[in-house]
Amino acid sequence: MAHLYDLIIIGSGPAGLGAAIYAQRARLDTLVIEKAMVSGGQVLTTYEVDNYPGLPGISGYDLGLKLREHADKLGAQFAEDEVERVEDGGPGAPKRVICAGETYEARALILATGAVHRKLGIPGEEELAGMGVSYCATCDGAFFRNKTAAVIGGGDVAVEDAIFLARMCSKVYLIHRRDALRAAKSLQESLMALDNVEILWDSVAESIEGSGQVERLQISNVKTGEKRKLELQGVFIAVGITPESRAFEGLAEMDHGYIKAGEDGITSAPGIFAAGDVRTKQLRQIITAAADGANAVTSAERYLTEH
Ligand SMILES: Cc1cc2nc3c(=O)[nH]c(=O)nc-3n(C[C@H](O)[C@H](O)[C@H](O)COP(=O)(O)OP(=O)(O)OC[C@H]3O[C@@H](n4cnc5c(N)ncnc54)[C@H](O)[C@@H]3O)c2cc1C
Repeated sequence: MAHLYDLIIIGSGPAGLGAAIYAQRARLDTLVIEKAMVSGGQVLTTYEVDNYPGLPGISGYDLGLKLREHADKLGAQFAEDEVERVEDGGPGAPKRVICAGETYEARALILATGAVHRKLGIPGEEELAGMGVSYCATCDGAFFRNKTAAVIGGGDVAVEDAIFLARMCSKVYLIHRRDALRAAKSLQESLMALDNVEILWDSVAESIEGSGQVERLQISNVKTGEKRKLELQGVFIAVGITPESRAFEGLAEMDHGYIKAGEDGITSAPGIFAAGDVRTKQLRQIITAAADGANAVTSAERYLTEH
């Protein structure tokens, strides 16, 4: 029979590691399962983090390592494995976590598997990621003060990003493949009122160019075929985020793939908590992910005491 943990945390990004730190201090018998070889989650791919309190300008990779070191120092146990599905025995009963390698059991679970930003898959995108190519205006916008940037996308996030960037950039292009935006009308009105934003309709990004830093964006008009090169320093890609929740389908209520949970991490399934980017929330950042981890452990402790 598998060892029955008090708590299994799935994912070791800021939410999972924040939870691991709090769970160790709460003396819960905890296992963290992470599919990647290195802990840290999306933070690892972040060139520079300038909005995490107390650590201005730290490289994402270093922050990821520091979070893991902290959890290790407190004695957290880790397993490198990919969770494929979870079987829930119901309130008070063990939950089985079925992985590619092994099956684990716990009395409570924290789902902290994060999310993945969709990529465009165009030349230059990967090479210049963190060197002018960004998937997060809230994270990186401040690096583009008085510079020119483009936002690619047409939904709420793209329009919000363009409005946010227009406050600091000298010029912002919004590049959208159609002739109308999908974003909420109120957002569109705010966008249209800005005189440093230019919307390039019916346009797609073809390649991002620059040596060591973004310098140009090649776009093409899908109706006329006309090509144009924009001189700029930043390209913000806002074409969607996919929550990593496939392994949990049918386990708890979801909204567009995000696990429905409030700040306390409580989901529709008793004893199963959600933390970080994978849950429904307003702001997906390191600070809110780490805070979610702490809150989810507090809720898990309460659940374990009651059951
Ligand atoms: C390029 C980029 C730059 C960013 N810059 C900043 C910034 O400057 N400041 C800021 O505050 N935020 C930034 N963010 C956002 C921030 O990184 C996220 O909000 C944060 O990492 C979310 O933490 P999380 O723990 O919820 O999820 P994640 O960081 O996504 O971690 C989830 C973990 O779960 C693991 N996992 C997923 N599925 C499974 C499975 N089935 N089995 C086992 N393990 C699994 C993943 O491998 C991963 O390690 C940035 C994001 C990106 C992509």
